Amino acid sequence: MRWFLSLLVGFAATGAAFITRGARVPATRREAKPAADDVDEGEFEKALAAMTSFSNRYVKLSKTKYCAEPSVTSVVIRGLAEHKVALGAPLCPCRFYECKESEAKDGYWNCPCVPMRERKECHCMLFLTDDNDFVGESTDITVDEITALTAM
Ligand code: SF4
Repeated sequence: MRWFLSLLVGFAATGAAFITRGARVPATRREAKPAADDVDEGEFEKALAAMTSFSNRYVKLSKTKYCAEPSVTSVVIRGLAEHKVALGAPLCPCRFYECKESEAKDGYWNCPCVPMRERKECHCMLFLTDDNDFVGESTDITVDEITALTAM
């Protein structure tokens, strides 16, 4: 399990897409460039606090739990915060996009994305159902934990 989670964190940290059971990934979508290139630090801290708060609320609302490996949760929330600053919307950080701006406007992959809202499918492994092999016990994470676990 640990090797898979390490791979997952590595993919998410580099902005690459990853796929878990039931994920729907159109082959034509490709990422143009990383969204975090021009992120202002002050704005990023506010966005990170907002996305942490959102995630802690939504994980309970959706009756899901975080991953047993908190670095997975941390990398995904950090990616959402970077997109919130760069694009004005928390575009899913675990996918490739040809144009992030138009995807953010479209809204389908803004967190919580449509597959999550309709079928509880989170291919980022941020919100996990009890039958997922990687589900943990936690429904809370702090900004400090995320910062520590995603420090480069
Ligand atoms: S709920 Fe959807 S948008 Fe949010 S992290 Fe999971 S897969 Fe990405």
